[in-house]
Amino acid sequence: MKMHNFNSGPSILPKEVLEQAAAAIFDFNNIGLSILEIGHRTEWFGEVITEARALIKELMQVGDEHEVLFLHGGASTQFMQVPMNLLDNNDTAAYCDNGIWGTKAIKEAKLFGNVYVVASSKDRNHSYIVKDFSIPADATYLHYTTNNTVEGTQWHHIPETDVPLVADMSSDIFCRRFDYSKLALIYAGAQKNMGAAGVNIVVVRKDILGKIKRPIPAIMDYRNHIEADSLLNTPPVFAVYVALLTLRWIKKEGGLAVMEQRTHERANLFYHTLDSLAAFRPIVATEDRSLMNATFTTSKPEHEKLFADLCKQNGMVGVKGHRSVGGLRVSMYNALPLSSVQAICDLMKSFNDQYA
Ligand SMILES: *Cc1c(COP(=O)(O)O)cnc(C)c1O
Repeated sequence: MKMHNFNSGPSILPKEVLEQAAAAIFDFNNIGLSILEIGHRTEWFGEVITEARALIKELMQVGDEHEVLFLHGGASTQFMQVPMNLLDNNDTAAYCDNGIWGTKAIKEAKLFGNVYVVASSKDRNHSYIVKDFSIPADATYLHYTTNNTVEGTQWHHIPETDVPLVADMSSDIFCRRFDYSKLALIYAGAQKNMGAAGVNIVVVRKDILGKIKRPIPAIMDYRNHIEADSLLNTPPVFAVYVALLTLRWIKKEGGLAVMEQRTHERANLFYHTLDSLAAFRPIVATEDRSLMNATFTTSKPEHEKLFADLCKQNGMVGVKGHRSVGGLRVSMYNALPLSSVQAICDLMKSFNDQYA
């Protein structure tokens, strides 16, 4: 029987995506070859990447001023590639330090230029989102993490600013309707809400590129990837294909409006249960709770391991905080059925009856 999959990433994928991906490993579109065996410059793969690009633009509702790229290296590579392409040595970029991923992005940006940390939630272990801050007018861009996967907080609005906005959306891309056109650069590793590990989706507004003096290594320069339609070198062919299957699934299910409705159903059920049980405690500020990654703990520290073990015994995987923060975490990405959330809520209730 399939486990209830609360993994934070790589994470749950729709069953039909797994079936289609498995079939394509043996025979891709009945061509007599595996998806793993075809060249990236074939017409076969050309159709895959073209459709994936078009679906991303359609779901994001962005026009030709934005380009979609499929790059290697995971979201962590973007911590470096963003400032390498956008930030000159003597210029300054603004960053929100709302969680460990944002902190890592700041560290990398400092290798290329100066950083204004305009908002930090470090004082309270990143358990809330700093919403009231000002951005110096000379900032080259503002970088923020839309959803803090580890801490379990999420931005529920887009920061107001005149400077180009750069967002790490690795763990909440396509979970809800969102005005993507307001962002100058969006990046996301596919392995949380959009496919398999190995590919990074970067959507960039062309007018922000080419403004710096630094020479950029060819493979790191967004402009080269744009010019080559993401075929500058061999892209992660299979991961791009799994992303395409996932994007098709999102569209077929009803697009972002339906994803948003399900996201709220899952999160409402989980948080409502969490708030009603004395044996458990939420960790983050209520208004900043993540709809994707719910972090919590047991009221009595000695119960934490007990509950985590109980989850395992009941076929639930991934109910564990990130190794850097501990506690418990339930990730509820697009492909997670409401029945899995119901199952863990039922387990929490019976645990509460026994131990609260
Ligand atoms: C997982 C994650 C990353 C790191 O992704 P990698 O693909 O492992 O480099 C970066 N940012 C956020 C918000 C994440 O959730």
